[in-house]
Amino acid sequence: MSDCLFCRIVRGEIPATKVYEDELVLAFKDIRPVAPVHLLVIPKRHIESLVTATSDDAEVLGRMFSVIGKIAAEQGATDGFRTIVNSGRVGGQEVYHLHAHVIGGGAQLPAMIKY
Ligand code: AMP
Ligand code: ZN
Repeated sequence: MSDCLFCRIVRGEIPATKVYEDELVLAFKDIRPVAPVHLLVIPKRHIESLVTATSDDAEVLGRMFSVIGKIAAEQGATDGFRTIVNSGRVGGQEVYHLHAHVIGGGAQLPAMIKY
């Protein structure tokens, strides 16, 4: 996915404020933060969405979710955070490279989505 925005960040072609990296996962600050801590945690390998992810992606998905707590605390979300994975059209996904938002570091977040 040569023209994918987040693949380009992984390759260093677009700048990002990286806060964590290992061989499978990259985390960086969201460019339009909605809270004092707003990070995006992504697989380095292009996976479009949770809509299309399969059991072949289990290792990297496991890595993403197992490092989030440590990264969040290091970045200042020391008293909990919210993790959101917008998936597909109904989920409001804008960038079609799977990413987990990690949001916190400030006041109590509002309640879950209400219709
Ligand atoms: P989503 O709606 O879940 O697909 O969220 C995409 C997120 O990517 C939004 O919160 C954007 O602010 C963020 N974003 C878009 N471009 C960049 C970028 N170049 N660097 C960091 N975050 C970005
Ligand atoms: Zn990509």
